[in-house]
Amino acid sequence: MTSKPLLRVEGLRKSFSANRHTVHALNGVSLALEQGETLGIIGESGSGKSTLGRIAVGLETPTAGELHVEGMRIDTMSPRLRRDKLRRCQMIFQDPYSSLNPRLPVGRQIGEGLFARGESDWRAIDATVADLLDRVGLKREFAKRYPHEFSGGQRQRIAIARALAPDPHIVVADEPVSALDVSIQAQILDLLAELKKQGDLSYIFISHDMAVVARLCDRVAVMHRGRIVECGSVSAIIENPQHPYTRNLLDAVPRFGRRRTGQKPVVVRLPLHNDGDCFIDVGEGHVVLQSASSE
Ligand code: ADP
Ligand code: MG
Repeated sequence: MTSKPLLRVEGLRKSFSANRHTVHALNGVSLALEQGETLGIIGESGSGKSTLGRIAVGLETPTAGELHVEGMRIDTMSPRLRRDKLRRCQMIFQDPYSSLNPRLPVGRQIGEGLFARGESDWRAIDATVADLLDRVGLKREFAKRYPHEFSGGQRQRIAIARALAPDPHIVVADEPVSALDVSIQAQILDLLAELKKQGDLSYIFISHDMAVVARLCDRVAVMHRGRIVECGSVSAIIENPQHPYTRNLLDAVPRFGRRRTGQKPVVVRLPLHNDGDCFIDVGEGHVVLQSASSE
């Protein structure tokens, strides 16, 4: 762990206006992704997970708050500098079919990310594309094929290869296995874990599924209505959940319900102030939104 997190957001807010209604997708989110870690973001549909992920890779701009990458505040930078900085932050989406262009061979689509990195020699690009296909467990000759020629799991591997092309430091994976069969899910999660072992990668892993988060993540932040209500190591959250919303999420997964110790924690540090919210630290970086712990 470094003293400076790889990515840090502070007091992030995002509102959307539609038909005279305003949706507050994020209501003040602060968190940090440390070098080399896999941080899970969990919560039910509509809790703001994708909005947070899209802001982290620059696909969306926050209404308020700060975004820092590798110690530099980037939300106030010029668009050109910001794009450059965010090249090292890539995203993988739930549905690889809609995120891939059906009319382009997959090798070309993977290669576009190398272009963006400044590579212009197509022979070098082809060689790197072949290496990337290797890394994600696909045959090199698949580069010439089109997305419809692949299975769902293979398409997600292609999307991963494309995300890796610009040599990112941070990959935000937004429900990357939710559309896949359970047996294929495990293979993709294993691939993500293996890729992290090989390179200088850190993940933000968005999911609604605690079992999937438990398999891959080091820490997990629980989101509810555009806020983080609890954050801590995966084992702390599963074995000693403090917020009622986290407990509800875990109750939906019987094997986690059984593992719970039910012990009241000893509060060791008080309080962390965070964009108006008050968190208590129940030990070892496990924090809980205080309004809820007094409920
Ligand atoms: P999650 O990924 O947890 O399901 P999202 O971040 O997609 O949640 O959405 C959070 C809230 O913001 C939802 O109420 C959603 O309808 C709304 N929202 C997200 N994107 C937009 C958008 N582009 N326009 C309007 N509302 C949006
Ligand atoms: Mg989403």
